[in-house]
Amino acid sequence: MSRRIGVGVDTGGTFTKIVSVSPEGKPLRELQIPTLAADGPRSFVRRVAEAVRWEQSALGAKAEGIGLAVAGDVDAERGMVRFSPNLRKFDRYPLRDALARAAHRKVLIANDANMAAWGAYVVELERKARNVVVVAMGTGIGGGVVIDGKLFQGSTGSAGEIGHTTVDPRGPLCACGARGHAEAYAGSYGIVRIARKLLRGKKSLLHTLCPGLKELEPRLIAHAALEGDKIALAVWEEAGRRLGLAIADAVYLLNPDRVLIVGGVSRAGRLILDPIQAVLRAQPFKTPFDAAKVEIASTPNLGAIGAGLLALE
Ligand SMILES: [Zn+2]
Repeated sequence: MSRRIGVGVDTGGTFTKIVSVSPEGKPLRELQIPTLAADGPRSFVRRVAEAVRWEQSALGAKAEGIGLAVAGDVDAERGMVRFSPNLRKFDRYPLRDALARAAHRKVLIANDANMAAWGAYVVELERKARNVVVVAMGTGIGGGVVIDGKLFQGSTGSAGEIGHTTVDPRGPLCACGARGHAEAYAGSYGIVRIARKLLRGKKSLLHTLCPGLKELEPRLIAHAALEGDKIALAVWEEAGRRLGLAIADAVYLLNPDRVLIVGGVSRAGRLILDPIQAVLRAQPFKTPFDAAKVEIASTPNLGAIGAGLLALE
C-alpha cells in the first residue's frame, strides 16, 4: 500500500522549509534550503522541485501535491505572489504553475499564516473545533480563520489579517504603513519598540542582558520578565493588552470556539497570554468570550505542515 503524503514548502526571506507530512499532519521528513531570494523565482522553483524529488525518493512515496506558503500578499487563484517584502523578485511570477511543471505535481499557494492556521487546526486541534481564529506571532502578526472546519481565505486571500486591525488610530506605525495596528505593538518590532520606550532612563535587567540595548528582542525581554524585571513585565503587559483588543474584535466578529496563538514570539507563554485573557474576560458581552478558549500552540513548522496538509485536501 502506498503512503499518502503531502509536501509543504514554507518560503521565508532567507530559508525555505520543506516538510513532508502524513494526512494527520505528522512531519515525516524536513529539509531546509536557502531561499536565495535575490536569484529570483526561476532558480527557486528549480531547487524546490529538486528537493521535493529528493524527499519523495527518501520516503519511497509520491507526494499527492505540494503546498507553497509565502509571507505577503498572495493571489491563490492566479497562483502568484502579488507582493512580498522579502521576495521582491517573485512578485507577479507564476510561481504555482512553474513549480507544478518542474515537480510534476499539483501545487497550491497561499499566505503563510493561512497555511499555519490550517496546520494548527489539524495538528493541534485534530479538527475537533469548528470555528477557529489563529494568531501567528513573529516579526509581524499574521492570522488565519477556519470556519465550519474549512480554511476561510476571503475574496482575495487576505482573510484573517488580525495584525492589521486598528487598536489605536493615533498609535505607532505598523510595517504596512498604517497607524496603531495590533502588529505595531505585538509584532516583534512592536514589542522591542515598547521596551525601548519604557526603558528610557529606567533601571532594568535588560541593560545587563543586552548592553546598549542594541540587539533587544522578544526572547530577551521574556527572559528578563521571567526573572521578575518590572519593565520587561510591563512590556508584555502592554503588547498583550493591545493584541487582546484585536482578538476581542475577532471574537465579536466570528464567535470562534478556539483562538490559537502560534509562532516564535508566542513562546513567551503566560507573559503574553495573561494580558490577552484579561482583556477578553473584561468584555461585558460574556457569551462569545465564555465560548472562546484561548491557548498557545507549541508545534513548530506549522506553516509548512499546514501547506502540506492543504495539498492533501
Ligand atoms: Zn498594519
